[in-house]
Amino acid sequence: MNRQRSEQLYEQALECIVGGVNSPSRSFKAVGGGAPVFMERAAGAYFWDVDGKQYIDYLAAYGPIITGHAHPHITKAITRAAENGTLYGTPTTLEIQFATMLKEAIPSMDKVRFVNSGTEAVMTTIRVARAYTGRTKIIKFSGCYHGHSDLVLVAAGSGPATLGIPDSAGIPTSIAEEVITVPFNNIDTYKAALDEWGDQIAAVLVEPIVGNFGMVSPNPSFLEEVNRLTHEVGALVIYDEIITAFRFMYGGAQNLLGVEPDLTALGKIIGGGLPIGAYGGRKEIMEKVAPLGPAYQAGTMAGNPASISAGIACLEVLREPGIYEQLDRLGATLEGGLNEAAQKHGIDLQVNRIKGALSTHFTKEPVTNYEQAEKADGEVYAQFFRQMLDQGINLAPSKYEAWFLTIAHTEEDIIKTIEAVNQSFIKMK
Ligand code: PMP
Repeated sequence: MNRQRSEQLYEQALECIVGGVNSPSRSFKAVGGGAPVFMERAAGAYFWDVDGKQYIDYLAAYGPIITGHAHPHITKAITRAAENGTLYGTPTTLEIQFATMLKEAIPSMDKVRFVNSGTEAVMTTIRVARAYTGRTKIIKFSGCYHGHSDLVLVAAGSGPATLGIPDSAGIPTSIAEEVITVPFNNIDTYKAALDEWGDQIAAVLVEPIVGNFGMVSPNPSFLEEVNRLTHEVGALVIYDEIITAFRFMYGGAQNLLGVEPDLTALGKIIGGGLPIGAYGGRKEIMEKVAPLGPAYQAGTMAGNPASISAGIACLEVLREPGIYEQLDRLGATLEGGLNEAAQKHGIDLQVNRIKGALSTHFTKEPVTNYEQAEKADGEVYAQFFRQMLDQGINLAPSKYEAWFLTIAHTEEDIIKTIEAVNQSFIKMK
């Protein structure tokens, strides 16, 4: 496959950008190395690379692009915001409008604060939980990625696990010691951790539906039990809904599953493709945040009119009837096609799907936790990834990442994708 221009650009990028990429998950290190594809343009469900090749995109920028690229309603909102001045450093009416939309969609958030990334949102929920409880330790689930702040880059999945560095250098052990990591979907281990450290725990950090070692649903009653046991020891429950909010329904996974956290962190989709994060929760907890309370958090860019306008426009699109049903329908077709192809060609494949998001683990056993996800064959994924890329299907260069459908994908795109899956499986033998 001719990707000559990408290769040239990669050489240039290596000269000026560390590793040639601005986020390690974009590197092809986990799929055998070489130049990542440099994209030039995106529209709807498609990308065009610098060598002129077209791709159907399932990366969706790791989640945010649920409306498809360059959705006209969002583009118009961003243009209007830019024309009115990109940054004020003062409050705006847009912020009230967007915070109200989020509160209405996710009622556990009495009060909201906007930040600039998912990393910031999670980092701050932890600070607020510590301020509220007067405790320091947190619990997280192994393999779950919660951004790159010190405290949560401990036994993390997503990028770090893919690169084989579950603990980053540069994080003091004194910080790592504040984090207890337990397996997802195992309530006994969770209870044992609380029995040992319960009175020191400020909060547990939960992805209510895991999106970072593939898509993994919680076992029945797992989240309810986590809530009950956590509250019993006086700690808070934080939901990291950076992937999940507005992914499966207009609202959070918490609304889909009927469980409520004390604090929620948001990002990705709520920015409509521009940088954003947000966190929110119960009024009395959020009132710990400055200027009302002693927990400090600030941001020059926080609540900037462009990101907020893009976010409002994105939610306006998602509020239209039938959107999530369409994503679910296309997801089901894709899941069926993947499973059928795997069976036909004798490939061990686990497809985990929740509506318009799915993951492909090349392994015999079902994947319900990180340990099982780790067992998926990375070599086979790398071959599959490259075959799909050559046939114009853009997936994430990591066996752990999900495929995300957008409302721009058509039935025809899915059929083409399934054909490419079959061709890939034939060539992989
Ligand atoms: N939490 C989760 C669940 C995520 O998937 C991510 C990003 N992949 C983050 C937090 C961090 O968000 P950001 O990259 O915007 O800092």
